Amino acid sequence: MDFDLFVIGGGSAGVRCARIAAGHGARVGVAEERFWGGTCVNVGCVPKKLLVQAGEYGAWADDAAGFGWTIKKGPHDWNKLIAAKDKEIGRLNGIYKRLLNTAGATIFEARAAFIDPHTLDVGGKRVTAEKIVIATGGHPVRLDIPGTELGIISDEAFFLPQMPKRVAIIGSGYIAVEFAGIFAGLGAHVDLVYRQPLPLRGFDGDLRESLAEALGAQGITLHPSSHPTKIEANGNEKILSFEGHALHTNLVFFATGRAPATRRLGLETIGVKTNDTGAVVVDQHLRTSQPHIYAMGDVTDRLNLTPVATAEGHALADSLFGKHPRTISLQNVPTAVFSTPPIGTCGLTEEEAAAHGPVDVYVSKFTPMRHTLTGRARKSMLKLVVDQATQKVLGAHMLGEDAPEIMQGLAIAIVMGATKADFDRTIGIHPTAAEEYVTLRTRTRVAGVAKAAE
Ligand SMILES: Cc1cc2nc3c(=O)[nH]c(=O)nc-3n(C[C@H](O)[C@H](O)[C@H](O)COP(=O)(O)OP(=O)(O)OC[C@H]3O[C@@H](n4cnc5c(N)ncnc54)[C@H](O)[C@@H]3O)c2cc1C
Repeated sequence: MDFDLFVIGGGSAGVRCARIAAGHGARVGVAEERFWGGTCVNVGCVPKKLLVQAGEYGAWADDAAGFGWTIKKGPHDWNKLIAAKDKEIGRLNGIYKRLLNTAGATIFEARAAFIDPHTLDVGGKRVTAEKIVIATGGHPVRLDIPGTELGIISDEAFFLPQMPKRVAIIGSGYIAVEFAGIFAGLGAHVDLVYRQPLPLRGFDGDLRESLAEALGAQGITLHPSSHPTKIEANGNEKILSFEGHALHTNLVFFATGRAPATRRLGLETIGVKTNDTGAVVVDQHLRTSQPHIYAMGDVTDRLNLTPVATAEGHALADSLFGKHPRTISLQNVPTAVFSTPPIGTCGLTEEEAAAHGPVDVYVSKFTPMRHTLTGRARKSMLKLVVDQATQKVLGAHMLGEDAPEIMQGLAIAIVMGATKADFDRTIGIHPTAAEEYVTLRTRTRVAGVAKAAE
């Protein structure tokens, strides 16, 4: 065999796995067909957050007046922003490639696909490996409606030749609401068109309501419970129709989900099982239906987040070659939505927790100190969901400035099984928004009672 381990995909999961396995002394090959670092580095988390930050500066310039500053806001230069972003991403690509080289992995800048269970075609070359990891990630999908080719997907949004004046975003998952904030922050009129009554399906109900209010306060036009039917072009304009009416815009952006990248990998021929969405099915040790073939990260479509992908890559390399077998828990994984303002969340939503029995719910909504002077209509919301019987904190949710930063620390307490009493005996840091989490004395409501009484 040419390699002990071959990794298909040089994204968050693949790079980490290849690098750590090579560090343990394994002979490792890794193939990447597009860009080192994968989605997160090139068309995901990193460039997205840079664009979010670009949008924030505009509001800060306006808000500075409340603190006595006279700031004259000039026009925003989209091309300058994209060039600066591209330079930084180029730097990160180089780091990822160097990390692999330094660790001793053999890198292939080519597409890989299975020929048989131990043999791959890597850019026209036959390569054999004892163990193989599928870490091919996912790709954005468009709606299947007439004129769909007139819209863009998130990969393209990072390279637009110019900033559109009007944008219609279809979808209300985290990518949709993040880009709504980006484009609005940079001065576009944004329409957000989605099927659900509230954005961010699957998140806590109070968070979803607070986010809808915040998006509206930012000047974004919300079109809830709307089903797009077609897109037409008229010169520079796009016309997006949904039942009964249409809106005119310059750019239609599909943020309508992602699909696992399993097509043309040859999985059927080697007997690796996929589910009905095309995701590779794995057990808790990341083993596929072929015991020597593993899969991890977004291609398995479980919890599609970079830190999950890298943790899985690391754990698998340690398990296979580092004499340190371990698995990753997908419980209480904290996550953020970089909407404007952002969201941080960890653990169960009120709705999930209440389905299992009575929970004490604590909610606080307030104007952040900064905006008492700026006058900006922006509220923060934070919330704890507590199991009534054990008083364990089951979930923490926040919308407001710095929510993702605050949530990382709270997640440690939740993973450790902290109770409401543990939160209460912790002294706050004053004056912060985060101190609200340790001063929530009055229960807002009890939820889930009916279920418990059944
Ligand atoms: C717009 C956007 C914003 C996001 N923001 C966040 C965020 O803020 N926080 C967060 O945690 N997550 C975020 N994510 C999700 C995150 O990017 C993914 O969870 C993460 O990148 C998954 O890593 P992965 O290694 O599984 O897949 P990927 O990073 O997608 O890597 C897979 C790699 O495999 C390569 N590949 C595919 N097929 C082949 C083949 N046959 N041969 C060779 N190479 C192949 C691809 O080119 C790709 O580089 C975001 C995603 C998007 C799209």
